[in-house]
Amino acid sequence: MTAARTVTFPSGTSVPALGQGTWHMGDRRADRAEELATLRRGLDLGMTLIDTAEMYGSGASEELVGEAIRGRRDEVFLVSKVLPSNAGRNDTVDACRASMRRLGTDRIDLYLLHWRGGVPLAETVEALEGLVRDGSIGGWGVSNLDVDDLDELPSGAALETNQILYNLTRRGPEYDLFDWCRARSVPVMAYSPLEQGRLGEHGALDSVARAHGVTPLQVALAWVLRHDDVIAIPKASTVAHVEDNHAALGLHLTDDDLRALDDAFPAPVRKRPLEIL
Ligand code: NAP
Repeated sequence: MTAARTVTFPSGTSVPALGQGTWHMGDRRADRAEELATLRRGLDLGMTLIDTAEMYGSGASEELVGEAIRGRRDEVFLVSKVLPSNAGRNDTVDACRASMRRLGTDRIDLYLLHWRGGVPLAETVEALEGLVRDGSIGGWGVSNLDVDDLDELPSGAALETNQILYNLTRRGPEYDLFDWCRARSVPVMAYSPLEQGRLGEHGALDSVARAHGVTPLQVALAWVLRHDDVIAIPKASTVAHVEDNHAALGLHLTDDDLRALDDAFPAPVRKRPLEIL
């Protein structure tokens, strides 16, 4: 069984619409076996985009991912991120090499600036484009950049994605950021699509979930995935959770469901600054 739905980046590369997040994975030795089994089960299910970052566990997440994909590198679309403090001209290259070492690979498929810091965006973009040219990364993108920051990117920059906080309780990007990205055919990568699990306790999802015989979190995930140009990267650290998340791909929300969810979680009617977790 595979996650059949895909999303295509401006470069033409297609990836599964449903990937796997890894923040806080690799932090605890006792959880390692289950976390490895979970990531590998996700790969078996076609959730072959894996998102990590040098920040996560100070490299522990990248090391876990490296172990999970050993012998399966060619199946995987690897996303990692450089810290803003490492996003200078030379530091970006060093950070990328260190991430590749931890991941056990000689190539990161998509490398993102984790958030904007003190280094000028143009300098980071130049470094990222150098990494594309030398084959270290397949493409580059950004994360946590609102529209005003995106407007500052050098014109013609080969931006592949903007990874942002987006879920039922964080609909601000629908006001303007989605439009910015769509105008450039840049897919959005939605992080914390389950609001870190908190949407599971939100009563407003219960009736839709009951009607479909699914969990509230599966409704929350299907809601993010209703866009055909949005990639969702929920994090699961148990096999049962990754299987549930995969099953959300098959959940079709009706117009009535979407109206009920709009009533409970209204779409933005004015600009809201991009939120960050
Ligand atoms: P999330 O994916 O919204 O939620 C993860 C939480 O939901 C975990 O507690 C997980 O529990 C639980 N969960 C997952 N699937 C479940 C299921 N089917 N049933 C019940 N509980 C379930 O939150 P997130 O980890 O913050 O975001 C996802 C990924 O996005 C991160 O891991 C990271 O890769 C990325 N991210 C990026 C940024 C950025 O600044 N670019 C910021 C935040 C996150 P278990 O762990 O017990 O399975």
